[in-house]
Amino acid sequence: MSSAGHASPAVGLFDFVPRTRLVFGADTIGRVGELAAELGGRRVLLVTDPGIVKAGHAARVRESLVKAGLHVSLFDRVKENPTTRCVDECVAVAAAEKVDMLIGLGGGSSMDTAKGCNFILTNGGRMQDYRGVGKAKLPMLPLIAIPTTAGTGSECQSAALIADEETHLKMACLDPKAAARIAILDPVLTVSQPPRVTACTGVDAIAHAVETAVTTRRNPFSETFSREAFKLCVTSLPQVLKHPKDIEARGRMLLGAAYAGIAIENSMLGAAHSAANPLTAHCGMVHGQAVGMMLPLVIRFNSADPAALRCYAELASGPELATVKGGLTTALEALIARIESLLNLAGIPRSLADCGVEPGKIKSLAEDASKQWTANFNPRRCEAADFAGLYEAAFNRRSDGDQV
Ligand SMILES: [Zn+2]
Repeated sequence: MSSAGHASPAVGLFDFVPRTRLVFGADTIGRVGELAAELGGRRVLLVTDPGIVKAGHAARVRESLVKAGLHVSLFDRVKENPTTRCVDECVAVAAAEKVDMLIGLGGGSSMDTAKGCNFILTNGGRMQDYRGVGKAKLPMLPLIAIPTTAGTGSECQSAALIADEETHLKMACLDPKAAARIAILDPVLTVSQPPRVTACTGVDAIAHAVETAVTTRRNPFSETFSREAFKLCVTSLPQVLKHPKDIEARGRMLLGAAYAGIAIENSMLGAAHSAANPLTAHCGMVHGQAVGMMLPLVIRFNSADPAALRCYAELASGPELATVKGGLTTALEALIARIESLLNLAGIPRSLADCGVEPGKIKSLAEDASKQWTANFNPRRCEAADFAGLYEAAFNRRSDGDQV
């Protein structure tokens, strides 16, 4: 990373340690018992939400664990965008059951709750103490992450994203010790997602690929994963929306989301996420929807930076939307056009006005966006006034993304 913060390094530095073993393939969920036993677990807490229990996934995991001789307790009260209170409730169960291993089963919320629980269970204190990087001093319990959505990539990250119960501010608590030891990527599990969730989480994964490709922290390692994630997700999202039971396409989407998660772990995110978080916290917008709405606007904003423009053009060349040789601006337009068409396919609204957000809120939303951690890694400096400009642009759009 450049010490100047926003200068573009020719070749970025990286320090990569593979912390998470990836086990990929249809029906690999059946191996969870064997894998948990291999990690030395005896008493496991399965962290999930009621929808996943209803879909039968929790029962399958429990069955495999019991078969391998492990004792299983269940915490099935994970909420979307988990708060400190949700984590505290999970910690109470984990402590009472004296568990020695955690399994996060579900979307990003389940995996984040399991990670948050791990921080407090092993290191004490409260979630706020771990905001930032590497604040935990003591070792943590082994964690197995099992995503049932193809989106957050939380299974490949060492961050727990937990919202403050009072302020709703999303706190990023990063620690290498919090990363899952094993991630089980079983595309069959993602078939049970409602179509809306497939759409929103898929758009989020694409946003992760695009944002990580241009951050000030990008490096040869993260770039590889950003590009491959983009290629996999852009080509597979239309397929899984049209044919939800296509396991091959579900697999490519799940792998793409995991690769994008690896890219985040090594490159961070940018202004689309900074702009999206306040829309989720204060206007109740679903994360993928908020990120999708802001992404094309942020790409256009960032493309004024020549190095970012080149990264976007290279990204577009992966799934052959354009060639770099054909001109950077042409490739940029092809990239934006494809993202807009995917957003339409996913039913993501593009106008803030259509989402019931009051124009009077722009100023406070923009202030909040500029304070998001991810804003620091955007290739172009993005201050509150810039975020206000991006939100205004989002007001002046038609619901299909075209300008009014
Ligand atoms: Zn995201």
